[in-house]
Amino acid sequence: MKITVFSAQPYDQRFLDEANRHHFAHHNFEFTYQNVPLSLQTVALAQGSDAICTFVNDQLDAPVLETLKEYGVNAILLRCAGFNNVDLDAAERLGLFVARVPAYSPEAVAEHTIALILTLNRHTHRAYNRVREGNFMLEGLLGFTLHGKTVGVIGTGKIGLATARILKGFGCRLLGYDPMPAPEFKTLGDFVDLDMLLAQSDIVTLHCPLMDATRHIINERTLAEMKPGAMLVNTSRGGLVDTAAVIEALKSRQLGALAIDVYEQESFLFFHDRSSDIIDDDVFQRLMTFPNVIVTGHQGFFTVEALREISEVTLRNLECLVNGTACSNVLINRDPAGR
Ligand code: NAD
Repeated sequence: MKITVFSAQPYDQRFLDEANRHHFAHHNFEFTYQNVPLSLQTVALAQGSDAICTFVNDQLDAPVLETLKEYGVNAILLRCAGFNNVDLDAAERLGLFVARVPAYSPEAVAEHTIALILTLNRHTHRAYNRVREGNFMLEGLLGFTLHGKTVGVIGTGKIGLATARILKGFGCRLLGYDPMPAPEFKTLGDFVDLDMLLAQSDIVTLHCPLMDATRHIINERTLAEMKPGAMLVNTSRGGLVDTAAVIEALKSRQLGALAIDVYEQESFLFFHDRSSDIIDDDVFQRLMTFPNVIVTGHQGFFTVEALREISEVTLRNLECLVNGTACSNVLINRDPAGR
């Protein structure tokens, strides 16, 4: 079986090859790695494949899915949890098998969330540079004590819960907002409505999926409802935040600090080396001018444990399709044999 892997980085190749060699060698899965993202311009690279494997910024809209189907590609293996980039209706209509990796070390993303909060609050990124240049002044590095602060967790699923558990250890008070409240969160904090969470939280951290209902959940109105000077953290999906509104809130000091691992237009930037390019995204460039903004390039998932898990589950999903067995990670399961 031939699988074309899009948006493939060296580490994707390393972990997929390792998983294939160690656990799935008997299937003769053959991988072709393409470092470009999947789009209508690059979909031709999938010709001759039975399946494709994609990541968060690959474009799986109806025209791309239709082209894949014409090429005889019947399976789409998402090596990520989020599936906001897939037109599931089109995939279903075309009878494609679509499976994802719903959980791969939620703690990896939670720990990165905490790293962002601590870095932004205690300015360790600035302190590092200062000390290397022989500047030991503390002015500008003032933070606040996390202990006793209120943190609002929007989305109390796997990553939200893992983040809440760590913050509980810091002695934070936790508020949660989720239309499907997880019972475990009640042992850590209180569920409240979104307005109350925004009004009371010193830090708001986003852990809900990107869907129509959550697109720009952080917007001009909800930013105005936040506690003045609070910190916003987004390690979930860029589209949850209206970046233009956030910039205005930062300029007016209503928003005290911003940490993001995801950005609405990230597909043009993240996972590429743009250090020699002129970046023409003025919104992103404006964000980078704020001293109280920290951005990482979608690396929340990036641990050895998570990459190993992603690769193994991705291949297990494919194995289910090959063997015709039930796959719990499936989003759409109508392969051409009607299994
Ligand atoms: P999950 O499905 O376990 O939890 C998501 C939670 O959000 C659920 O409890 C759900 O009820 C809740 N939710 C749904 N609609 C909501 C709304 N309107 N308001 C508030 N909450 C709502 O997912 P997870 O594994 O915790 O992942 C969360 C998100 O993290 C994913 O959707 C993905 O976008 C993102 N993610 C980011 C990285 C990264 O590297 N930065 C890695 C993995 C996942």
